[in-house]
Order: sequence, then structure tokens, then C-alpha cells
Amino acid sequence: MTFSYDVIVVGSGPAGSTAAWQLAKTGIAVAVLEKAALPRYKTCGGGIIGRAFQTLPLDVRHVVAQECHAAQLNVLPTGLSFTTHRPTPIVSMTMRDQFDFALLSAAEAGGATVHQRCALEDISHCGDGVTVMTNLGTMKAKFVIAADGALSTVARKMRMADGRVLIPALEYEVTVPPNQLDGFRGIARFDFGLLPHGYGWVFPKQKHLSVGVLSTVQQGGDLKQAIGRYLHLLGCGSASQVQRHGFVIPVRPRTGPFVDQGVLLVGDAAGFADPVTGEGISFAIRSGLMAAQSLIDGHLEEEPVRQAYTHSLAETVFPELRRARLLAKLLYDLPRLRSWAFSQHGQRLCEVVTDVMAGTRQYRDLSFMPRTVLRLLLPRKWKHSAYEPARHGDGQAG
Ligand SMILES: Cc1cc2nc3c(=O)[nH]c(=O)nc-3n(C[C@H](O)[C@H](O)[C@H](O)COP(=O)(O)OP(=O)(O)OC[C@H]3O[C@@H](n4cnc5c(N)ncnc54)[C@H](O)[C@@H]3O)c2cc1C
Repeated sequence: MTFSYDVIVVGSGPAGSTAAWQLAKTGIAVAVLEKAALPRYKTCGGGIIGRAFQTLPLDVRHVVAQECHAAQLNVLPTGLSFTTHRPTPIVSMTMRDQFDFALLSAAEAGGATVHQRCALEDISHCGDGVTVMTNLGTMKAKFVIAADGALSTVARKMRMADGRVLIPALEYEVTVPPNQLDGFRGIARFDFGLLPHGYGWVFPKQKHLSVGVLSTVQQGGDLKQAIGRYLHLLGCGSASQVQRHGFVIPVRPRTGPFVDQGVLLVGDAAGFADPVTGEGISFAIRSGLMAAQSLIDGHLEEEPVRQAYTHSLAETVFPELRRARLLAKLLYDLPRLRSWAFSQHGQRLCEVVTDVMAGTRQYRDLSFMPRTVLRLLLPRKWKHSAYEPARHGDGQAG
């Protein structure tokens, strides 16, 4: 077989572009196929958490519209409100057209070939490589990285086992007057209680607010009604301009394998979004970089590559997502326990999740699961501390 490239990366979101950048800088012949033309709008809050920036080996701070050093969590029906602060940004606010374009430009500058408006239509594995059919023609490579997002055509065409849980989410881009915008400046806001299993968020951008809701159950009820109520609550019910978007977030990984017939799955195509927050960019970047490193370390040989990537995921991503699923269960599936936990330990819970978002702790370091979740149900005098000691004070109602 004559190869067009060593590796073809399908999709130029954060997973694909970082993988391509890593491969290109090692001298591997890599192409990125992207069905759209960047910069393009992407349905996303555009919140890049500290954990994502820690993983990202590229400097893209120039696309950050606003840095939020504070996060506020409101439990609407109870009136409880908790605010956390960090010296480094908890969430850096971007628009994904700018963020993704910066990453793809870095990959291209590093030596990757970029084919835009190039949609993968079919794919097959034959002998020692992979053939991809696109609207621009056929190409061949030793490996393909499937970074084509939640609806991955690559995974579907290759009949890769699924098992992901895709949850619905809405993102509205809401134009408000400057004085109203000022009220949201520097704070990433999260609201529980808008809908039974889910939450809402407000991410302040340069000239508008990105307002969203997600439901952690697949048939999430009426998300449109929920976001309508949310906009009224925020005082944005009569905003001058509202752009409405919706998509899905995969909050449970595929059953695997994650490397099969010359294809490596990364990011949303693999199902690596955080089940607590729906945040997907940090593990998209991480898995993209790990897939690229596995190809480099495995010298583009199928078995060593398979072993390296499978091992990397088992060591890092899977334990973290497994632990996160337990916390998500507490937050979304056990409303009475959640109310109790917020009323007794709300500030500590927020500090812990903020630490995870900021990248200073991992879910798997948290000592409150699962044994301590049970201790949460015990009377106070029977236990010492349900969570690790809080660093920023105790719970308070606001
Ligand atoms: C409403 C909403 C809000 C969210 N907010 C946040 C947030 O604030 N922070 C956060 O971290 N995460 C957020 N997420 C999750 C985040 O958007 C994803 O987890 C992340 O984009 C996954 O990155 P990726 O690179 O795997 O895939 P994507 O970013 O989805 O990129 C896939 C790329 O592949 C291209 N593609 C698809 N099919 C083909 C094809 N056949 N041929 C060629 N190219 C193709 C697409 O055009 C796209 O550019 C949100 C998700 C939703 C739905």
C-alpha cells in the first residue's frame, strides 16, 4: 500500500489538533481532515478549566476573553449559595471558534497538513493500513485518530462498540447591555435546581453571556423550558439577541477497545467528558496527546501502539472518570442526599470540585467516596469529617 500520510487525524477539535501537533513536531507525516472551515462556531460553553490548561502544551492565552478566579454555585430552591476563589483562573472563558482555530493553527505551523471542508465519508482497514474516503478523494495512512466528536462517523463506520451515555445540552449566546454584563464579570456561575437531573451555567464573554443547561438523563425533559426559566431568573428574559444552539455530551466512555484495526479513539468520540460537569476539553486534549505519544513510542506498529494507548488510558483517564461517575450519581440521581450534602457541607463540596476543575486535585484523591458517602448519611456525632479538611472556610447560606 502507498501511504498518503503516516497518520490521518479526523476532526480538528481540541483532541484532534493537539494530537496532530504532537505527531508533527516529532516528524511524523500527519494530516488533519476537518469537515468545516475554521474558525467556525462550535456549540460549547467555551469554558477552559485549569485542568485543561495544565495539560495543554501550547500557549493560547491570547484567545481567552475573560478569566474567572471565582466560581459561584447556587442551589436555587433552597437559597443556598457558595462561592470559591482561587489565585489562578478556575475557568478561562473562550469562544470555541477562536480556541479551536488557535490549536489547529499551531498544529499546521508545527508541520501538520490541514485539509478543511474535507468530510470523512467512509473508512476501511486493509492489511497494513487504513483507507479513508472523503468528499475530496481517497487517502491512506498507517493509523487514523478518530477525533470527530460525539457523533463520530469513524467509529460508526468501523462498527466500534459504543456504550457511551450521550446527554443533551443547550447553549444560548445572549447579548445583554454592558451594565448587566458587568454583574457577571470574573465569575463562573452554576445553578442547581432548574431541572431535576442537571444544572445551568453562565459564562461571561467579552460582549455577551454564554448561558447553558444540561440534563444528565438522556431523555432530559424540556430543556428549552428550563433555559427559558433560567434566562428570566438571570434577568435576561428580554435580551436583545439570543442565538440558540444544542448538542450532546458523552459522559460515559465506550466499552472499548479504544484502538482497533488501525483506529485510535480520542475525546468525545471515545466518550471522555466529565460526568460531574459535562466538561470535555481537558480529557479531549489529554487523550489526543496520549494517542499521539502512543503512536510515537510504538513506532507506528499496531501491537505496541495498542498496548501503549490502552495502558495510558487505564492509568489516567479511566480511574478519574470512574470516580467522577460516583460523585455525579450523588449530585444528580440522589436528590435528597444532595440537598442534605449541600446544606451540611456545601462549601467544602464546592471547594473540592473547584480544586478538581483548577487541576490541583483529582477526583480519585477525594476521600469522601464511596465509603464516606455512606458516612454522610450517619448522624454528625458518629463521624469525624465527611470530606477532607476545607481550605477556604465552611458552608454558608447566602
Ligand atoms: C452545550 C455544551 C456546552 C459545553 N461546554 C463545555 C465547556 O464549557 N467546557 C468544556 O471543557 N467542555 C464543554 N462541552 C464539551 C466539549 O464541547 C466537548 O467535550 C469537546 O468539544 C470535545 O472535543 P473533541 O475534540 O473530542 O471533539 P469536537 O470538539 O466535537 O471536535 C470534533 C471535530 O470533528 C469534525 N468532524 C466531525 N465529523 C467529521 C467528519 N466526518 N469528517 C471530518 N471532520 C469531522 C467537527 O467538525 C469538529 O470540528 C460542552 C458541550 C456542549 C454540548
